[in-house]
Amino acid sequence: AKQRGRANWVRYADGMERPASAHARLGGDLRRALDAGEFRLVYQPIVDLRDGRITGVEALVRWEHPDRGLVSPAEFIPAAERTGLIVPLGRWVLRETCRQAAAWIAAFGPDVLDKAAPNVSVRQLHDPDFAADVAAAVADSGLPANRLVLELTESAVLRGQQVSRVLHEVHAMGVRLALDDFGTGESSLSLLRAFPAAIVKLDKSFVDGIELDEPGTPAAEARQAVARAVVQLAGALGLDTVAEGIENQEQADRLRRLGYTVGQGYHLGRPMPAEQLTEIFAARRRV
Ligand code: C2E
Ligand code: CA
Ligand code: CA
Ligand code: CA
Repeated sequence: AKQRGRANWVRYADGMERPASAHARLGGDLRRALDAGEFRLVYQPIVDLRDGRITGVEALVRWEHPDRGLVSPAEFIPAAERTGLIVPLGRWVLRETCRQAAAWIAAFGPDVLDKAAPNVSVRQLHDPDFAADVAAAVADSGLPANRLVLELTESAVLRGQQVSRVLHEVHAMGVRLALDDFGTGESSLSLLRAFPAAIVKLDKSFVDGIELDEPGTPAAEARQAVARAVVQLAGALGLDTVAEGIENQEQADRLRRLGYTVGQGYHLGRPMPAEQLTEIFAARRRV
């Protein structure tokens, strides 16, 4: 059975169509994994581009599969969304992020983090208990609500009435909302009016190659234009920005000159286990 399971995984990874039985098996496997405690969170630093200081973290889920090792969320989040398992999984992510962030604040003081940001699927917003779950995660952890940032991928769905009501409810608790992958959706501008966003995250696709400005690289120029427009629009609307996917110092410098003060990316810090960040925070306090 394990062999067949693996074969189906390989097919899935190749993007080929999977038989319905494999589909069901993945759903069941995710349920079992959640019950067995196989999910982990890693945290990627969100960094002040002016002084390199960590100002926040994004929580990213990993699946520590007993046979397959570490499985990337790109492989299982879509299945979790299809099967609805994203609701209990997302609830766990939310609670665990709040617990960990509150623990860091308890250990290192309130200045250790300005934000802890889990990702939230739109599917979760359709769950009638979502707002209550957020309130409980904040209350049970003791994390100040304004340190919690929910990252939502920009999507027209966010404008639906039910979703909009839930988002305003969460916003009213003091929790902040970030529009993830900003600039890639079809509705960026109209969405900003309808959505109580506090932060926009400039998508990595506009950061890739932004530092290349030899004459005749129109792609880089276009990305610079988009990056500049996004930071100016955000500023005019009173929103904060985070530039995502920064992989080298030239990109960080370029984004700073365009007006970005906060960024995220492998060059600034990889996603890492909580213990590793605890060591970084402890070392920072010692100096
Ligand atoms: P995302 O929310 O846009 O997260 C950023 C992704 O880019 C992460 O991939 C991160 O590891 C990666 N990344 C960060 N900096 C760099 C960089 O400099 N270069 C490159 N090439 N990549 C970088 P990851 O962890 O594999 O997550 C992929 C996606 O899965 C996330 O994209 C998010 O949409 C989803 N995801 C992750 N965790 C969760 C979760 O707990 N719940 C939900 N609903 N979705 C999640
Ligand atoms: Ca995100
Ligand atoms: Ca993103
Ligand atoms: Ca993304």
